[in-house]
Amino acid sequence: MSNPKLTVAIIGGGIGGLSFAVALLKARNDVVIDIYEAGETFSELGAGLNLWPRVLEVLHSFGLEDELYKYAGPPGLYKKMKFMKADQPEGIYWGEAPANMHGIHRADFLKVFVNHTTTGCTSHFSKKLLSYEDAAGRPVTLKFADGTTATCDLLVGADGVKSAVRSNMYSQIADEMEKAGRPSDVVQSMKNCMKPIWAGSIIYRQLIPREVLEKAFPDHVALDNPTFFQGKSKFLITYPISKGRWVNCAAIVARHDQYGSTYEGSWAVRVTNDVLAEEYANWDPAATTLIHLMDSPIRWVMNTVEYLPTYASGRVAILGDAAHAMTTYQAAGAMQAVEVTVTRTFRSRKSLTEGARTASFSRLC
Ligand SMILES: Cc1cc2nc3c(=O)[nH]c(=O)nc-3n(C[C@H](O)[C@H](O)[C@H](O)COP(=O)(O)OP(=O)(O)OC[C@H]3O[C@@H](n4cnc5c(N)ncnc54)[C@H](O)[C@@H]3O)c2cc1C
Repeated sequence: MSNPKLTVAIIGGGIGGLSFAVALLKARNDVVIDIYEAGETFSELGAGLNLWPRVLEVLHSFGLEDELYKYAGPPGLYKKMKFMKADQPEGIYWGEAPANMHGIHRADFLKVFVNHTTTGCTSHFSKKLLSYEDAAGRPVTLKFADGTTATCDLLVGADGVKSAVRSNMYSQIADEMEKAGRPSDVVQSMKNCMKPIWAGSIIYRQLIPREVLEKAFPDHVALDNPTFFQGKSKFLITYPISKGRWVNCAAIVARHDQYGSTYEGSWAVRVTNDVLAEEYANWDPAATTLIHLMDSPIRWVMNTVEYLPTYASGRVAILGDAAHAMTTYQAAGAMQAVEVTVTRTFRSRKSLTEGARTASFSRLC
């Protein structure tokens, strides 16, 4: 009789969870993968994503880069990345760099992975994980908000910055430390890892259609160049996405003194333009034109997590924003989710053996 397959449950069908599923499917043929997603379908907000060259190498190794180019266009599409000190009526261009990046609509990037999880994975929607139990001698048990349960051999939390998996994992680690008589400040530092923290910044995001910007400001620098408009504790970053069909705009207002606090209130709401226009009044016209065209931006609260001492405990691991959510200043969070999980999955390829069913998660990652 053949050995039963190893069952892996992935919580969260965002870029991190789906890229991990694709990596695992490519690495092994002896696993059963279940993806549990809280939403009704796999989806991403209507905004752009910047991809740096390293992730293109990862997609190349999967044979997925042509699919990416179908949505984002081929490499070398954009001219230079430009930098302007822009918080004055006549800004100063002070530098430029090679624009070795790819701008893609987030939903399109997700599609690249969704297309490759239709066979080999079972996707379950409207399944919001509340908690899990990882008791010796039994499979890991998952409890969902709809009252149902499921089991698996290994659990992967790819459920974003608010991660229920991370919260449960660090609650259990803190309990174990408390029982072992560890000092209260050490126990508290584990509890601090459960919740996200506010990075002190607010981001306003909107896609502007290319023809709208062309009409308002012919030959605008942002049409063909990723551009940084900079000021003190504020900046506007733009880059073309989807073969230049849109200009992705993100205007950031930072309150560095608030870093580490908890933001009370909604994290993502659509707002009117007035607050934003006031923040960027008297900037260079190249910047204010974009700001005015962002007529109904999504106001996004930038949250992150404490530096975590571990990403795995027992038969459970976390990845992506659940593990290392970061501020958006380097436009790299999603890329890190893909790169870290994919390279680790492949590195572990030879070390995962038939006995993994009872092994700790560290053998897989
Ligand atoms: C304004 C902004 C701009 C950014 N720009 C860039 C950029 O240009 N380049 C870049 O690389 N990164 C960028 N990032 C970062 C990037 O968006 C994240 O790092 C990335 O989306 C993380 O992917 P993830 O799959 O780990 O988490 P998420 O995208 O948050 O996905 C988590 C998934 O889990 C599901 N889920 C949540 N809780 C549960 C639960 N309890 N049970 C079941 N399912 C659950 C959610 O519905 C979601 O589908 C940006 C972030 C922000 C906020």
